[in-house]
Amino acid sequence: MDVYPIPMVPGPVKVPEEILRVYQTNYGAPGLEASFWDLYHETESRLQQILETRNRVVIQTGEGMLALWTALRSCLKPGDRVLSVATGVFGYGIADMARSIGAEVMTVGLEYHETLNDLRPVEKAVEEFNPRMITAVHCETPSGTLNPLDGLGKLKEAMGVPLLYADVVSSAGGTPVRVDACHVDLALGGSQKCLSAPPCMAFLSISDRAWEEIERVDYNGYDALKPFRRIEETRRFPYTPYWHGVAALNAGAALLLAPGLDESFNRHESIARHCRKAIVDMGLDLFPSPQAVPSPTVTAVRVPETLPWEELDRRLRQKGLVVGGSHGKLAGKVFRLGHMGSQADTALLEKALTVLADVVGGTGRQR
Ligand code: PLP
Repeated sequence: MDVYPIPMVPGPVKVPEEILRVYQTNYGAPGLEASFWDLYHETESRLQQILETRNRVVIQTGEGMLALWTALRSCLKPGDRVLSVATGVFGYGIADMARSIGAEVMTVGLEYHETLNDLRPVEKAVEEFNPRMITAVHCETPSGTLNPLDGLGKLKEAMGVPLLYADVVSSAGGTPVRVDACHVDLALGGSQKCLSAPPCMAFLSISDRAWEEIERVDYNGYDALKPFRRIEETRRFPYTPYWHGVAALNAGAALLLAPGLDESFNRHESIARHCRKAIVDMGLDLFPSPQAVPSPTVTAVRVPETLPWEELDRRLRQKGLVVGGSHGKLAGKVFRLGHMGSQADTALLEKALTVLADVVGGTGRQR
């Protein structure tokens, strides 16, 4: 049963019935261990297709944050240099996490409503700082923006930076990530966004270069990536395998791939375009600046000055619509419609827009 009939939170998204059924399957019977590996490999291969990579994809039990953290923790030693491209909550957060490991961090920072359209500051920073890793966030979910990965990949290759790290938590499956074409060494995703699965299955695509770094750092903590390197041979998961989660992630990946990935990308793009136009038509302001690249998976909107976020949220929920607030310095100022995965659906969006127009009707454009 749905708690809210019109779910538009930018993750965790509504889990479709067919995925819930897979999730509820009982895997407790003895003798099933062997087939876990079939499931794991099938899921890995589907994630490789979604990320457009031949790199190994590791599936870890945990949130997207775990993937972000563990990739830093397993690839960096104290004193290693990291250049963090930050355009929002997660970009700045990744820089902080790298610092907490003892990395020396330089940030190319932009405002939250901007995207990285000009690579020259990054190029200059790489020249000056000679980093071991560049970090970036593909879709900054709290801002509804999309940063280009291809330019960063080309720059990394041309300037000889060893590693490109990309948070693809809210983009993978909803928009092309093209890990290999963009030379992304560490692409970090989560199950609960465009894959439409329950939360807490993280996935990490890891290039050969990144595996070399993992060996160099030789980190062996609970969250280490190293044990996953030879998992095919050892067939030993570092902890209890999360069958239900992997099965649901596999089903989510299959659902995306069935009509072809392009279908998913086009659907997300056209729904997002429609959503942005409707928002502007009802007199609300989009959050990303006109120069920024908006994300096809989430639309961020400024909270009208005459209707505080808590009241807006309350009135929307009363009518069955639940949207996302935002985080950090955007809290209370921005709300978001998540049209990703199962929620990239025209009929659902129409319902959401009808409720939204009804609730904000008459509040008018603020500026
Ligand atoms: N990165 C981005 C861009 C996100 O939007 C999120 C979650 O919303 C995360 C990372 C963290 O994922 P999780 O909430 O699964 O830890």
